[in-house]
Amino acid sequence: AAVAELVAGRVLDVPDFPKPGIMFKDLMPLFADGAVFREVVDGIVAHHGRESFDVVVGIEARGFVVAAAIAYATGVGVVPVRKAGKLPRATHSASYALEYGEATLEVHQDAFTAGHRVLVVDDVLATGGTAEATLDLVERAGGTVAGFTVLMELAFLGGRERLAPRPVHALLTV
Ligand code: IMP
Repeated sequence: AAVAELVAGRVLDVPDFPKPGIMFKDLMPLFADGAVFREVVDGIVAHHGRESFDVVVGIEARGFVVAAAIAYATGVGVVPVRKAGKLPRATHSASYALEYGEATLEVHQDAFTAGHRVLVVDDVLATGGTAEATLDLVERAGGTVAGFTVLMELAFLGGRERLAPRPVHALLTV
């Protein structure tokens, strides 16, 4: 609960971004606050346990910030899941529907050692499309999903239900 309050205190609500009617949760103040960012990273590591994962995946782009910090804090490596066309070598790719159109995410085919346990992190869970595609990519690339964590979950958008039965950990649920 203490970490949830720290997160809540460092999120700004931005109306009508990126388009009218959307209330965007801006976590930049959280990343910019060194003490809070450290509590957030330590809180995620404590929840999952240092020994429960072998590598961390961050989802482009804000997920990279959190994933790199967790990786450094625990001495594991970090693997990026990127938007289409950014990774230079052979990839697996997964597409998912957006309100208008679709998005594609990619991971390098050789990103994981077989059976490595992968902790997946992102900043915000909304509808769960991004996370669902990412977990699929991790498995197709030979990883085993050890956990999925976000700093903030927007529960009214149903991401947790979409990802079920895979567990979702959120530092703050609104
Ligand atoms: P989803 O695929 O609908 O769950 O959207 C989650 C993805 O979109 C994550 O990668 C988030 O970074 C981003 N996202 C969606 N809504 C927000 C928001 O309100 N604030 C920050 N990021 C968001």
